[in-house]
Parts: sequence; structure tokens; C-alpha cells
Amino acid sequence: MPKTKTDYDDPAVDRDLYSGLMRLHILHHAAEGPIFGLGMLEELARHGYRISPGTLYPLLHRLEKKRYITAKLQRDGKSRRTVYRATPLGRKALAAAKIKVREFIAELFEGE
Ligand SMILES: [Zn+2]
Repeated sequence: MPKTKTDYDDPAVDRDLYSGLMRLHILHHAAEGPIFGLGMLEELARHGYRISPGTLYPLLHRLEKKRYITAKLQRDGKSRRTVYRATPLGRKALAAAKIKVREFIAELFEGE
């Protein structure tokens, strides 16, 4: 059976190219406050990264595996959802990444 494309996987978005940016974006929000999958999908879409849950969850799991974020199941009335937060190690990684990103952005827009 051929692999079906999901509606929200934008072909213009090269997931491989942007996966680091998306991970940093997730880490940034997880450091600001608790995040959950659907909210993060909407936030990334707002920034032009229209990805499917099938793309988001591996990114979250990789951050969790690196101990940059923790996942906790939260009961919200009848529904349950997993909430993610940045760990102290994640905050440290984000602070280091911010320095690199700032430098990179300066170079990227140099002379513009
Ligand atoms: Zn954002």
C-alpha cells in the first residue's frame, strides 16, 4: 500500500533541514512554561512549520531522551494529556544554543 501523505505535512517544509530549529523552538516554549502536543503543533504552525503529530512526537521524544524535557501525564477533567517541561539540563542547553543562534543570525543577515 502506498504511503499516504497527511494534509498538514507541508511539502515546502524540509523537516530534515528545520528539525533542529523546531527542537529549539519546542525547548524554548518548554522552558517558558508547560507545553502539550496539540498546543505545540499550533504554535509551530503559526511560525510556518505545519507538521503532523507523527513528526512532532519523535522530536519531543528525542528531547525527552536527552533529558532536556520531562513528560508528565496530566488529567484535565475527563481527558488526559501529556505535558512537557524543560529540565535544568534543557535550560542549560537552550542558553548555550541561544548564543550560537544569535551569532548565526547575525551572520545570516550580515550586510542586509
Ligand atoms: Zn514560538
